[in-house]
Amino acid sequence: MLIVLNADASAQEIQTVVDAVRSHGWDPKPMPGASRTAICVLGNKGPVDPDLFASMPGVVQCIPVTKPYKLVSRETHPDDSVVEVNGVPIGGKSAFAVIAGPCAVESRQQILDTAAFLKGHGVRLMRGGAFKPRTSPYAFQGLGEQALQWLAEARQQYGVGIVTEATDHENIAMVEQYVDVVQIGARNMQNFSLLRRAGASPKAVLLKRGMAATIDEWLMAAEYILNGGNRRVILCERGVRTFSDHTRNTLDLSSVPVVKKMSHLPIIVDPSHAAGVREFVPPLSYGSRAVGAHGIIVEIHPDPAKALSDGAQSLPFDQFREMLKRL
Ligand code: PEP
Ligand code: MN
Repeated sequence: MLIVLNADASAQEIQTVVDAVRSHGWDPKPMPGASRTAICVLGNKGPVDPDLFASMPGVVQCIPVTKPYKLVSRETHPDDSVVEVNGVPIGGKSAFAVIAGPCAVESRQQILDTAAFLKGHGVRLMRGGAFKPRTSPYAFQGLGEQALQWLAEARQQYGVGIVTEATDHENIAMVEQYVDVVQIGARNMQNFSLLRRAGASPKAVLLKRGMAATIDEWLMAAEYILNGGNRRVILCERGVRTFSDHTRNTLDLSSVPVVKKMSHLPIIVDPSHAAGVREFVPPLSYGSRAVGAHGIIVEIHPDPAKALSDGAQSLPFDQFREMLKRL
């Protein structure tokens, strides 16, 4: 349930409601908002009787929350959330955000060249994997902390904010020291200990949709992170598994307007892992913008033919430049 208070409710009135919720053994979570003060009641096993709080001083309304996810739901937070990363706002009515970079960090030169190129084109967020979740144990696994150090150097030199993946509960502590956004990949969307740990992170989290996850499951995964105290979550649609085999995954663009209806969190699209082939990345990027996504995260590489992972779906710089113009 959501307890809505007057916009000008006093600190004392808010505290009295918080204490009353606690006295029932439930967890009160204040919900920040521009136009009102609200307290979300969590941890209740059954329905909460609105009469318990409705007549308390400052309370204007008690609204039952019908969804299993509470903190990510629009019911509890009607205004769009905007997550700011390295001075770039993502979400709400902010400009369409572009995150670009290689699938994996391969060398210092590759990362510095990419960061210089991005800076020259006004792109202020760079991706690059240091820990790669690979299907085969024999495939390139990423360069780990060395890669994080090169990313940090690129950040320092060119001012690009860094997005990189933490693949497990062990490496997230190292990753979050170097980056602006910790990515949780599709294969880890329901890694609950990682989600809980991300909830305690001081860094923003990019949560990709699992390749067989429903939107409810995806939002419940985000709920873990918000429930841990980290409200800076960006959702990322990256395609799901279907019977279609003409692209690597099937980009579910319909999830964008659906998620925007259900949740206040920003949602971006990864057209690269959806397509699997570079030729289809630009049209899927334009489509993402057209359906209302708040941005894209796209793979680019200075020399895709030599990439150690996902070269086939990576755009060379000149093709990325063309795409940016049309976007
Ligand atoms: C990636 O971003 O490099 C990646 C592995 O993505 P996903 O988790 O969507 O497959
Ligand atoms: Mn990749």
